[in-house]
Amino acid sequence: MAKEVVQMRREVAALLLEISRNIHPNEVIVLLHGRREKTGYFVEEVSFPPQSTYGEGFSSFNPYQLPIDHSFLGVAHSHPSGAPYPSVEDLNNMMGELMVIVTAPYRDERDIHVLDGEGRRMKLMIV
Ligand SMILES: [Zn+2]
Repeated sequence: MAKEVVQMRREVAALLLEISRNIHPNEVIVLLHGRREKTGYFVEEVSFPPQSTYGEGFSSFNPYQLPIDHSFLGVAHSHPSGAPYPSVEDLNNMMGELMVIVTAPYRDERDIHVLDGEGRRMKLMIV
């Protein structure tokens, strides 16, 4: 069965929006953790990548330093420009199975966009 739905804890969504808002106009990157389910993913918490610096996009952290962690689902980052779609660099640097893009003005789930490993849009459910 294809994985199509991403459930995200309400606290996680609120945290992503708040961090993105606080770091704006720079770009924030956080790691997503949770579990895989038959029809999708459940994002339960976030953590910060080692040696990340804000504002330089994906080039700023070294994926080889990521801990080996089965709860790791993917990466969320913000788009201060508000663009709700991945850039070419985003697609080329995709890590994990999920990509979450948080777009300015960071209001609520309308500004949280979820893509799968192929860059296809997934349905987001806040739970
Ligand atoms: Zn991006």
